Formats: sequence, C-alpha cells, structure tokens
Amino acid sequence: MNIAPQIYTLPPYVPIEPFEVLSARLGRQPGEIIKLDANENPYGPSPAARQALAELEYPHIYPDPESRLLRHALSQFTGLPAEYLLAGAGSDELLDLLLRVCLEPGDAVLSCPPTFGMYAFDTHLHAGRLIEIPRRADFSLDLDAIRRAVEAEKPKILFLASPNNPDGSMLPGEIVDSLLDLPVLVALDEAYIEFSGLGRLGAGGTRLAEVPRRENLVVLRTFSKWAGLAGLRVGYGAFPGWLLPLLWKAKQPYNVNVAASRAAMASLEDLDYLEGKVLALVAERERMSVELARLPGLQPYPSRANFLLCRITGKPGSDGASSGQLLKSRLSEHGILIRYFDRSGLRDCIRISAGKPEHTEKLLEALNDIL
Ligand code: PMP
Repeated sequence: MNIAPQIYTLPPYVPIEPFEVLSARLGRQPGEIIKLDANENPYGPSPAARQALAELEYPHIYPDPESRLLRHALSQFTGLPAEYLLAGAGSDELLDLLLRVCLEPGDAVLSCPPTFGMYAFDTHLHAGRLIEIPRRADFSLDLDAIRRAVEAEKPKILFLASPNNPDGSMLPGEIVDSLLDLPVLVALDEAYIEFSGLGRLGAGGTRLAEVPRRENLVVLRTFSKWAGLAGLRVGYGAFPGWLLPLLWKAKQPYNVNVAASRAAMASLEDLDYLEGKVLALVAERERMSVELARLPGLQPYPSRANFLLCRITGKPGSDGASSGQLLKSRLSEHGILIRYFDRSGLRDCIRISAGKPEHTEKLLEALNDIL
C-alpha cells in the first residue's frame, strides 16, 4: 500500500525518553532531577487549578466540543469576543489544524529559523513546501529576504514566534506591522509572551486585540508555560473571521479534554498567584543570565521568555560531539537536564529554562565544576 508520499520523507520518529525512565538511567529519583530542557514551569499548576483537578466531577462525560466555558473565560482574559477564539490540545494542535485546513500539496510556508521546530514538521506533514529565511546572527529577521520570498513564492502562511524559541528575542512592533502589510497569513506564536515584561502577563505586548480587524493575523497562545499546564495540553488561538468556520469544520470534536479545560479556567481565576510565579521565573532568568556571563566560555543572549540561549565560546567538543552536546551530557551527570541543538549555527549553543532559585544554584555549582 502506498501511503501519503510526504510521510516517507519525514525524518524518522525519535522517541523522547520519559522523565521516569531517564531518572532511573541517571540513578536519581524523579524529584531530584532538575529539568530545564523543555521550558516547562517548575512551579506547576496554581493551587486553584490543582483543586479543580482534584474535584473533577464529570471525567466520564465527553467534553464540550466548542469549549464554551473556557472560551468565555478566555474572552474576559483577552478582551477579545469569544467567537474569534478557538481552544486546542496545546498550541501544537492549533498549528497542525491551521496547516491541515490551509495547505494544498506543494503550497509554500515561510519560516525564519532558528525557531520552533513544529512549523517545519507540520508543513512537511501536510505536504507543504517549506521556505526558510534564516535569521541574522543576532536572531533579527531579514525583512528584505522575507519580502522577496513572499513575492516570489506566494506562501500561504508566515510563521513567527515572538518571543522566539530558542533565543528569546521579541519582534519589534514595527516589524510585525510591516509583515502584516504583506499578502500572507501571519501566524504569530506568542507562547512565551507572558514572560516578556510587557504589561500584566504580556497584555502590553500581545497583538491579540488586532485579530478582529485584520484579515491576515493569527495569534497563538498556550497554558503550558505561564500557567504550568504543559502536561495537560491546552492552548488557544485567535483567528480571522473568514477562517474560523473552516477551522471549526476540521477540528477534532473533543480536542480539549475536561481536565485541561477545568484547569485552564481555574488558572484564569488565579492570575495573581500565577503572575507571581511568572515574575519569579523572569527574575531567575535575569539572575541566571548575569551569573552565566561570569563563567568562562559562556555567552548568554538577551531573552524575553522563560529560558536563555547560551553560546559556548570555550573549547569545542571532542569525539565528534558538539560543545553543546558535550555540556548537556556533563550536566546530566549532575541530574540537570538542558537542551542542545543539532542544527547548523546552534551546535555550540545550549538552551536553559528558568527554574526555581535552588535550580539556578545547582546549575551554577555544576557549571563551575565542569567549566
Ligand atoms: N510555540 C512555541 C514557540 C513553543 O516553544 C512551544 C512549546 N515548546 C509551543 C508553541 C507549543 O506549546 P504547547 O504546549 O501549547 O503545544
């Protein structure tokens, strides 16, 4: 049997070692592992969200396919009418849905690497043609090259994360404005906006409010980072009016499960607590940045997210391993997990998520030992 041709050329699936398996391999209890590799929130769900989960009444009943209560709460949180909002099983699901609905085989999609890997993955999955316009050395966008590519390739979608993963830089407002003037649907991924320091939980920096008056703006958000719900999978997006009925038609009916939905709503009622944790993580990111810069051979980049990208300027890796891979492996011997990148331009970089103050202490101790 022949299957969809683009699946043959996708890179093979590489299983991610679950936390418990990994901790057993490192000979440590899961609670002893300092997990700074996936930009999760180490404080976890708010007390209100934990309570809502403990008191879940109807886990045996299918969830509301329209996530009405959650979208109503999100409408109050964002100030956007609920009809522009769609909830998903993480923003990952909404990225997939967007491309599933918009792409015909061979359609071009623009992305500006280094950036979040799912834009490329979902484009390939849906038989799209990925056009990559690399960022400059300081991770800023090459606007002229983007303009030329939009003209030449007529992409359907331009993906942009702001703050960007893996470096944490934000797009200046005027750059977003000029990109929105291009004839392309701009999918602005604000997964980390709550850590940007712009207003309360990113309210001063988000472009959500513009979605109803633009034809070509999608904004994606998540509860995985600021609200500590990564394991429950819940995110949301704001989409232009013409696109929404099509997304509704194609969406899996029960995409947001009852636990995720209840925990998300409870989080929206516990904003003071969660904002306190966001501020703590931002403070930790800044402290970590100062301390890492003091260490020999490490150069952190400025970040507006809950992580830091750090270039290793010291000695390169040996035995064919990159310096990033080597440092990741040395830190794992200390029970500390970080991320390295097997990609050109980033092989001498590591990304470290902001943790609790005691995590930073342990990290600095370990790095002092290693470097
Ligand atoms: N966008 C970016 C830029 C991310 O880094 C991530 C998660 N790593 C996501 C989206 C996906 O988040 P979610 O957990 O909501 O699927």
